[in-house]
Amino acid sequence: MAVVTRVDALPVLYPEPNDSNALRSLLFVRLETDGGEVGWGEAISQFPASSLATAALVDGLSHLILGTDPLDNLATWRRLRDQTWWFGYRGGLMNFALSAIDIALWDLRGHVTGLSLSTMIGRRPDLDPRGMRALASTHVFDADLDYEVDRHARYVGEGYLGVKIGMGKKGDARLGYDVKRDIKFVDDLRAACGSEAWIMMDRGQSLVWTLDDTIRRVQAWQEADLKWVEEPFEPWEFDKLRVLRNHSTCLIAGGEREWDARGFEEALAPGVLDVVGCDVGRVGGITGALQVIRLVEQRDVWFNSHAWSSAINTAASIALSASTKRCLIQELKPDPNPMQDEIVRIPFRAVDGWIAIPDSPGLGITVDDDAVRRYLIER
Ligand SMILES: [Mg+2]
Repeated sequence: MAVVTRVDALPVLYPEPNDSNALRSLLFVRLETDGGEVGWGEAISQFPASSLATAALVDGLSHLILGTDPLDNLATWRRLRDQTWWFGYRGGLMNFALSAIDIALWDLRGHVTGLSLSTMIGRRPDLDPRGMRALASTHVFDADLDYEVDRHARYVGEGYLGVKIGMGKKGDARLGYDVKRDIKFVDDLRAACGSEAWIMMDRGQSLVWTLDDTIRRVQAWQEADLKWVEEPFEPWEFDKLRVLRNHSTCLIAGGEREWDARGFEEALAPGVLDVVGCDVGRVGGITGALQVIRLVEQRDVWFNSHAWSSAINTAASIALSASTKRCLIQELKPDPNPMQDEIVRIPFRAVDGWIAIPDSPGLGITVDDDAVRRYLIER
């Protein structure tokens, strides 16, 4: 029997070329067994303060992980939930800690058994041998929207099924502020990408849209065959979502800020979401995400892994996406970046618009410790 003998919490800060080189943060957990097997996990903590706080939580909970058998990972997950009832109720930073630990435990379990994550959690029987269709998930940041149209059309030219574009982000694009300009952008994008490409628009939490303007945008974007609109309102604005639902035909996506299956259950109850954004680095890891997938399958909506951080998150997300028929695509950051391309020996790449399912043990990646430590936040 292997037992966990070492727990390291590693907060990092890195520039993200896909986000106008903004600095973003993550919290990695590295576990090691007495036999020398190593497992990696990630929390999408996003900011230094939350990464450092999550690191402190992992340190403080390490006694619940040390000495456990990686094959008992589900019991360890439950023990962590049970013993953090006071500060982990309904999620919060504790769920970041739980997510990173859980992903690392599944990775270890795979290394101990020789099984890939995809084998352990199952794969939909009709999965295409090439894997999942890849979608370029991006932010717009250049003031010249013609440049942004060309850039996104290039991703489609490279084989991506389509593009999902986040608005209201860093940079000078200012998409999402002017209804007519937003409508023209999607019209131009459709003309440049061709009729087959999927186009999704994601509001971004810094923008505040009125109901009327949102309906105008979405109805015009539908003329350009919009696949889905994401988080057009804040997650609790169900009344507005209901009205939008009655005035639109495209899919409505949301949910990425939920922490656990209970939160997703509440988000789905009003019947206004078609696509559930779910981040494995936030919802309690792979174990938490599988609970969300079960819910998605019961409700006949769509699961969409929100994977916009490191290759550790991407590896887990691809296996989760491939496990269910209720998943349409796998999002990838299209431009090379430190957390996808430097910290693993073989980065994930879409090939002709497809992303292969990792099939070597655990997450199926080899993490480069030195590369991770280059981005470490001192604490
Ligand atoms: Mg989003």
